[in-house]
Amino acid sequence: MRASLDCDLVVIGGGMAGMTAAARAAGAGARVVVVEKAAEIGGSAALSGGYLWTSTSLAQMRRHDDGDPDLHAVVIEEYPAVLEWLRQRGIEMGPPQPVLFGRGCQIDMQGHLRGAVRDVEAAGGHVVRNTETLAILREGAGVAGVVTSHADGEAELRARKVLIATGGFQGDAEMRARHIHPAARDMGLRSNPVSNGAGLALGIAAGGAMAGPNSGFYGHLVAHPVALKTDSDFVNYTQYHSIHGVLLNREGRRFVDESHDDHASSQVALRQTGATTLLVWDARVQRDFATAAPVAGAAPLDRFELAVKAGARGGRFDRLEDIARFADSLGFDGSACVATLASFNHQVARAPEALEPPREGHYRPVDKPPFYVLEVASAITFTFAGLWTDARARALDPFGAPIEGLYVAGADVGNVYRRGYSGGLALAATFAFRAMRTAGF
Ligand SMILES: Cc1cc2nc3c(=O)[nH]c(=O)nc-3n(C[C@H](O)[C@H](O)[C@H](O)COP(=O)(O)OP(=O)(O)OC[C@H]3O[C@@H](n4cnc5c(N)ncnc54)[C@H](O)[C@@H]3O)c2cc1C
Repeated sequence: MRASLDCDLVVIGGGMAGMTAAARAAGAGARVVVVEKAAEIGGSAALSGGYLWTSTSLAQMRRHDDGDPDLHAVVIEEYPAVLEWLRQRGIEMGPPQPVLFGRGCQIDMQGHLRGAVRDVEAAGGHVVRNTETLAILREGAGVAGVVTSHADGEAELRARKVLIATGGFQGDAEMRARHIHPAARDMGLRSNPVSNGAGLALGIAAGGAMAGPNSGFYGHLVAHPVALKTDSDFVNYTQYHSIHGVLLNREGRRFVDESHDDHASSQVALRQTGATTLLVWDARVQRDFATAAPVAGAAPLDRFELAVKAGARGGRFDRLEDIARFADSLGFDGSACVATLASFNHQVARAPEALEPPREGHYRPVDKPPFYVLEVASAITFTFAGLWTDARARALDPFGAPIEGLYVAGADVGNVYRRGYSGGLALAATFAFRAMRTAGF
């Protein structure tokens, strides 16, 4: 006999999207049950820097990314309401500040998660941990709840509204290989390890569909090889300053506009021969960027020293020509690397518009010794493919019709981003808001 419980809303996944939605619905008086697979709620949100940021306008977001314009608009439209709601709930927040090309605030993430649990319980709901969702129940045109499995047995949570918020599929190597690139099978994971595509599978089994192909992901270039085990590893080994350096592939060629964003470069770097590349920078970049905090308020670190100490392949050289032998030893074409760097420096000084690939910003030559060379690889934080979802955060069936009562938020929403990225926490919280608005909470 299965235990059974009636509620207004079931939320699958207790990370940024799930807990934000649950707190908002509970605040409107709904009885919510959050089903979390891990031993603790929080997911990647709990590992994150807590910078709740996004583009300052739809136009800015579209300059940096070619995802679905209607879904971009959800992030831009709901973002101010999310910030205001967090403020009203007394969540501590830093001052507004620039983050990448956009703007945002650092929020007290643990405070937000704890407050969300309190709100859910105060409204008569529950947050259950160590619990799998086996299926989403259907009834007529809509949903009727979920079946869960816990060490104590199976349970049926009956609700007319279900939110899928399991955080993407980056934790599943085979799915990464299938949907992103064969080389993505061996990528480092810079995320919670639990998000393995369960939301996508549950949504499809309940009649939903995957949004059109999208091989994009949010990740960063990290020193290689290093083990990524803790949240501080995720930050310490990330080479945020790659936007000021030069990236070279095994053929010794530049392959991307490095100045665009480290996360954008990481998508292109994965697709290069061997899936690792060389990041080269000079003493100026080392002093001003490689040892600086990536965002105001974060701790400064020497990322080169940390990486090499952890076993990454890196070297420091007095002359650019000395890089050749080191690059050769790592399987790169050393003389082509040196020739590309010389030509880069020459063109930056004389005709930067002729650079190929082009470079939109940070036109400074790499010419102040010593020179730093670090092998880097792409590591993934979340996937951009996901469930086909409309701008009301409703899951759509293969014909584009909404499934009554089934909503999607966070990294489980497909096609919000494609090549760029304008915030992961904002994507999660704004879709949670939109879903709850549509659900009437
Ligand atoms: C080191 C690091 C730093 C970051 N810093 C920032 C930052 O400063 N700003 C920013 O915007 N973004 C940042 N991010 C990204 C951000 O954390 C994510 O984009 C965001 O948390 C995604 O929200 P989500 O709700 O979709 O997923 P998550 O927050 O990961 O939540 C998903 C939840 O679902 C649970 N789950 C998975 N499968 C199941 C299942 N089958 N059943 C039930 N539960 C399940 C997971 O355990 C998890 O609790 C960072 C990420 C990392 C790793």
